[in-house]
Amino acid sequence: MVGVGRNATAAIIAAVSGMRASELMELQIGCRLPVEEFGPGLTRYRLASKLIKGQPLGGTRDEWVVIEPAYQAADLAEHLHDDPTNGALLFGRLAFSIRYQWFRNWVNGPSGQRLGLAPIPDAPMNLRALRRTLAIELDYRPGGVLATKIHLKHVAVATTEGYASRPGGAQAELLAEVNKHESERNLDLLWTEFLNYQRGTMPAGPGARDLTEFFAHIDAKLDPDDATAPKTQRNDREILSLLTKRAQILHLGVSNYCWFTDPSRALCLKRAGTPTADKPLIGMCDSARCPQATHHPCHRPVWTDHADRTKAFLGELGPTRRAEKARLQTEHDRAMRVLANIDAANATGAQA
Ligand code: SF4
Repeated sequence: MVGVGRNATAAIIAAVSGMRASELMELQIGCRLPVEEFGPGLTRYRLASKLIKGQPLGGTRDEWVVIEPAYQAADLAEHLHDDPTNGALLFGRLAFSIRYQWFRNWVNGPSGQRLGLAPIPDAPMNLRALRRTLAIELDYRPGGVLATKIHLKHVAVATTEGYASRPGGAQAELLAEVNKHESERNLDLLWTEFLNYQRGTMPAGPGARDLTEFFAHIDAKLDPDDATAPKTQRNDREILSLLTKRAQILHLGVSNYCWFTDPSRALCLKRAGTPTADKPLIGMCDSARCPQATHHPCHRPVWTDHADRTKAFLGELGPTRRAEKARLQTEHDRAMRVLANIDAANATGAQA
């Protein structure tokens, strides 16, 4: 009975703490650290052991925050120990799979049945499987990935995600979802601008000519006279498929659209000294000068606000602040120029 009890306590501690075999074997008499009370119903139970895997020879002392049943199981294991002197190993070397089999045989056998214990399903069990099951249980709760990483003492989140059987990992999944939404949004924006172009509202800014030529190219393809076969159908879906590739290079700035076709032309990358980067540095964008930037009516409020603010600051500067005044005046002029270009493109349909 003592053996059965000890096996049961080892199984409980392993199942609810997620300890590896090496960590379970390092538990000692006296491993139960004092219970901490943080308020009503907020009690923390801890077990002291050693981390062995990936640690220097002899392991590193560490502790596991566990739920009360694991703490009670350690207490019972101490009482069932042959020689419960402080510092003695609680279980010592143990072959968990074999002990578990003995325990299951006992529960499923006449002794366990006489006590009315629920039979344990006949399936192989080992400590690694228990650890992974615990990881999945923790991982699929809100904030679970981080909680699992900390609890199982993983060095990297990727390991935790692997444990939780999330192919590609939660981060990759989230990124894929974000990218999908981003692509849909870009396509919507491009579609709107294409319709604006058809209505005569042109883009403005240094990259306006490129974009207008692209729209003109699409528009030409939609000419019914060019249809090569009677079955050719010029519908929205077809236009969207023509726009999709362009939408992939669209990046949104606060005050402009960035059509990142060529890194060597990107002003932000030149300024940052990284001319071969594969993404623009929107934070360093100078859309009034970069040949890949366009301005549209939706950007007008930002530029208006900027022009108003710089004008207000200019009015507050005293006569001695010449350098500051010159800088603000340049900014104000630039904002006014961009606004004029947006209005001109909007009003006349001409390229800015
Ligand atoms: S400067 Fe602005 S528009 Fe030009 S590439 Fe960089 S982010 Fe895009």
